[in-house]
Amino acid sequence: MNSSKDEKKKRAYRIFGALKLKYPDAKPLLHYSSPFELLIATILAAQCTDERVNGVTPHLFKKYPDPAHMAAAEHQDIGSIIKPTGFFKNKAKSLKGVSEAIEKKFGGKFPETVQDLITLPGVGRKTANVVAGNCFGAPAIMVDTHVRRVSGRLKLSESNNPDKIEAELKDLILEKDQTRFSHVLNFHGRYTCQARRPLCMKCSIENLCPYPEKIL
Ligand code: SF4
Repeated sequence: MNSSKDEKKKRAYRIFGALKLKYPDAKPLLHYSSPFELLIATILAAQCTDERVNGVTPHLFKKYPDPAHMAAAEHQDIGSIIKPTGFFKNKAKSLKGVSEAIEKKFGGKFPETVQDLITLPGVGRKTANVVAGNCFGAPAIMVDTHVRRVSGRLKLSESNNPDKIEAELKDLILEKDQTRFSHVLNFHGRYTCQARRPLCMKCSIENLCPYPEKIL
């Protein structure tokens, strides 16, 4: 397979086209109704399933609907609600910490850009891209575990480093397409190109995939 930059871009867009057909409704599976809620849900989703996060957030957001309420909460009270998501003591600190920072640093106005979001304590590029891409229309490549695995198998990136993968994918995909590209890659990783046993026989982009360990 020709690995020149132009060929790689063309292949990335053929992959994108096929995956858009396969996953027309690809989108975040975390439930949220505001940027603040998506930020909090994304933090809770670390080392946890989206389903489990969605199980605790209705109660959490009812009690703490905005950064001001979350910042004023006790760690223990937040922790008791989010316990099922695991690592709840650290996550409670993070939730309170980002809420305090939004209040103090941004005067309660929710930050809208990746550059501002990554200044919040414990918020990395993936989380910042999730919020900026889904809530504010920013071009966003969200490198989660699925996007990392699939882009590696497809040789769209040669790196294991999420920041490098993000930069390499941004180089291949136009800004207007980046957020949707992330969503379809994520869905492909969840439902077809799974970590332990990829379903290569059912894969709609098998002809575009150079992964040497395909299961056919
Ligand atoms: S052919 Fe297999 S390894 Fe390649 S993208 Fe499809 S499921 Fe993943």
